[in-house]
Amino acid sequence: ANEQLDPENPQAKALQYVHKSAKEGQMCGNCALIQGADGEAWRPCGIFPGKLVNSEGWCAAWAKKP
Ligand code: SF4
Repeated sequence: ANEQLDPENPQAKALQYVHKSAKEGQMCGNCALIQGADGEAWRPCGIFPGKLVNSEGWCAAWAKKP
């Protein structure tokens, strides 16, 4: 099973990933790169293969859903 992304993971750090977004209106749950089902707390992300990110998290690759 996929494991939760560690914010200390070098790739996560490079993109400033956090489990709780500090950016108003921007979070993994509304990012174009999120995968999996709406409403789940931990979901796959297109740029962190094999890991799960928090729906309320954020990273510098955040992009608005089209
Ligand atoms: Fe979250 Fe970043 Fe993945 Fe978007 S690209 S879902 S902000 S970790």
